[in-house]
Amino acid sequence: MSQLHYRTCHLCETMCGIEVEYEGEQILAIRGDKNDVLSKGNICPKATGLQDIHNCPDRLKKPVRRVRKDPAAKSHDDTWEELEWDEALEYASGELARIQAQNGMDSVGSYAGRSTAHNVGLLLATQPTRDILGSRNIFTGSTVDQMPHNFVWYHMFGHQFLCTIPDINRTDYYLMLGTNPKVSNGAQMATGANAYKKLNEIRERGGKCVLLDPRRTESVKYMDEHHFITPHTDSLFLIGVIKTIFEKGLDTLGRMDGHVKGLDTVKAAMQDFDLNDISKATGIKRDDIERIAVEFASAKSAVCYGRTGVSMVDFAGITQWLMQVLNTVTGNMDEVGGMTFPLPAIDSLDMSRSSWDRYRSRVSGRPEFSDEFPLIVLGEEILTPGEGQIKALLGFGGNMVLSMADGNKSEEALNALEFFVAVDPYRNETTRFADIILPPCGPFEKSHYDVFYHLYDTINWAKFSPKLFDTPESKWTDWEIFTELLGRFATKREKNPIKKGLISLAHKTVRNFISAEFVVDMALRFGPYGKKLNPFNRSGLSVKKLIDNPHGIYLGEHKYTFPERLFTEDKKIDLAPQLIIDDLPRLKASRIDGGVHNEHAPEFDLRIISKLTNRTLGWMHHSRRLIKGKNPCELMIHPEDAKSRGIEADSLVKVTSRVGEIQMPVVITDEIMPGVVCMPHLWGHNRKNTKMGVANANPGVSMNDLTDVQYHDKLTGNAIVNGVPVKVEVLTENADLVEVHEDAAHEDESVEEFIV
Ligand code: SF4
Repeated sequence: MSQLHYRTCHLCETMCGIEVEYEGEQILAIRGDKNDVLSKGNICPKATGLQDIHNCPDRLKKPVRRVRKDPAAKSHDDTWEELEWDEALEYASGELARIQAQNGMDSVGSYAGRSTAHNVGLLLATQPTRDILGSRNIFTGSTVDQMPHNFVWYHMFGHQFLCTIPDINRTDYYLMLGTNPKVSNGAQMATGANAYKKLNEIRERGGKCVLLDPRRTESVKYMDEHHFITPHTDSLFLIGVIKTIFEKGLDTLGRMDGHVKGLDTVKAAMQDFDLNDISKATGIKRDDIERIAVEFASAKSAVCYGRTGVSMVDFAGITQWLMQVLNTVTGNMDEVGGMTFPLPAIDSLDMSRSSWDRYRSRVSGRPEFSDEFPLIVLGEEILTPGEGQIKALLGFGGNMVLSMADGNKSEEALNALEFFVAVDPYRNETTRFADIILPPCGPFEKSHYDVFYHLYDTINWAKFSPKLFDTPESKWTDWEIFTELLGRFATKREKNPIKKGLISLAHKTVRNFISAEFVVDMALRFGPYGKKLNPFNRSGLSVKKLIDNPHGIYLGEHKYTFPERLFTEDKKIDLAPQLIIDDLPRLKASRIDGGVHNEHAPEFDLRIISKLTNRTLGWMHHSRRLIKGKNPCELMIHPEDAKSRGIEADSLVKVTSRVGEIQMPVVITDEIMPGVVCMPHLWGHNRKNTKMGVANANPGVSMNDLTDVQYHDKLTGNAIVNGVPVKVEVLTENADLVEVHEDAAHEDESVEEFIV
């Protein structure tokens, strides 16, 4: 007889509640949980793919070690052997310790991919991993799509995770850039997967929604206005809006008056830009810029929000800063209907550090940000000989070959490593370079709590998801793997026998007494809504209390938090951080005066941008029900650009950038603006020696074979994925087209009901 289990979908920051119907160890259906306090039954198709991951025959259940054909070099003809866990952990920890002892602390680097933030065990292990490795060579996937947000929050508010959340439930004017909530389901702006309903509600209550994007996206039908905007010029549009507000005397700090410094510096900086120049560069009429400025400043409440689309471009740091400037100078910072701040049940601001430029990367001198370097320098840090060169890597929660700029460069670097430990459930495009893969158990075999993503909440709430299955052959959680790996590594590395004994004792204590659930329980108990250790405090939160409330507990709307919650020493918002002000001349030179803008070879005359679909994330291409049917890797191109290149509806094209080329079919459409082309990213499952049958059968091509680590936002170091210069040509005869399976062999799979 079937039973029901309630948990949070961990696949993205939207954190939807799901209802899992199961019998024995078989999952029968996944639906939205109508009683979930946040999402109220809304989910997207991706949640249904979780059962495919649970059942996937390619998911590794035991550690596997590379067996080299040629002892001197890795090859894609190498084979893999299964190991018992003890032997695998001894081998991995021993090699990491040996390499660090021989080459110094920085010789062992670590890379945490994006899914780390969605995984309680990995997330809780991240800081201990950094502390125990003691290496400066720390990298995360956040410098692909997210880091400019954190950079600005740190420099303006004093903490990299003091996340601004648009008060979508109460705002009267919503200005959006570089976001597609219909497909993302809201992400940071609307946890709970009903973003499009919330957009409709803004308009139903007399408000207005405006979207800027080089593509007429799926979200446009929920807007009052959409404007095409030239890639890399969102910052100029925002300068035009802010300048207009200042010139018309519409600015106000509202409740933040007395808690802001740098206003005069911002006003002066805006004077360097001319609205006619801005209009020409952005492609948006001057009248529209001025009208939007007046509407925004005059609305009872308003909020400007931009997501990864404007973090993966040049001038991303300036763009993210200008959005917060706009919200602040119109009285909408920490205000109802503007930008607000959640107070999560686990207040992870106190559990994480923020810093800037305490040291620099060895090869190109990039500043450190909160203990890490941007991923664009990982390749050079592996490939450039010298003291501090990365010889070994501990990688987890990511697939950098497909997600990071210049996949070919990532492959070259990974192949050059002396030793690579991957903690991952799959042998994918990245982990195929590993010497050993340590696979954590599946998503239903471990508990879950969103330690990080409650910082993105649109309401305050909490929910704990206990594990559903206890599967004997697949039982090591990410937390347990890291506890063992790091404990053994630190013990082996230590030479002093007394210290060695103490480290070993600490390792055994953590192993025996401290689980991820214990850490979550303590953080809940001593958090803002916590039970503490008081057995009579029935309303206080603990893991048990949350388990007893499987649909979550509502903790209230956002309240005013500034200036108390600011982490700046003077408790003021820094509206004009000097290093951001100093980057403005680069923007003007590039986009207005035609300087850096023209540094790319003239034949690269189009700009390519990325898109996602609501059926897939990069790590969900193992799901048969999600990737069935026609592969979405087609190049969207405007009719004028197609015509001038002789491209027709059934053409195959070659897309070339400075670093690589790919081939694919086209879609000719005016949904994309002239001069811009668009394709999905995170595809390209056609690499050898991977073990991902479903993804391999429907591989697509990787956009990151075109992106370029040399082309990045100089201020933040974030990779540029959107707006990369490319050339598009019709394929000539004998072209070596990457095989794209338009009809994946999964016709019989049915997609479960996904919207309640
Ligand atoms: S939007 Fe989709 S992937 Fe994201 S949490 Fe909700 S169901 Fe999961």
